[in-house]
Amino acid sequence: MSPFKRYDVEGYCVACRERVQMENIEEVEMRNKKKAWKGTCSQCGRPLFRIKPAPREGMW
Ligand SMILES: [Zn+2]
Repeated sequence: MSPFKRYDVEGYCVACRERVQMENIEEVEMRNKKKAWKGTCSQCGRPLFRIKPAPREGMW
């Protein structure tokens, strides 16, 4: 089972100008093999995109 917390991702929304909770999160892989999250802003519904941080010990 993945340790990824599906509902615990925040992103910066340029429309709301603050960090917001992401909804409808999908994990995607970019061309350079990096993982990213795709979702929507829980406040205004705009699409959000966040590159997944490099794994750190104890995090993922
Ligand atoms: Zn927003």
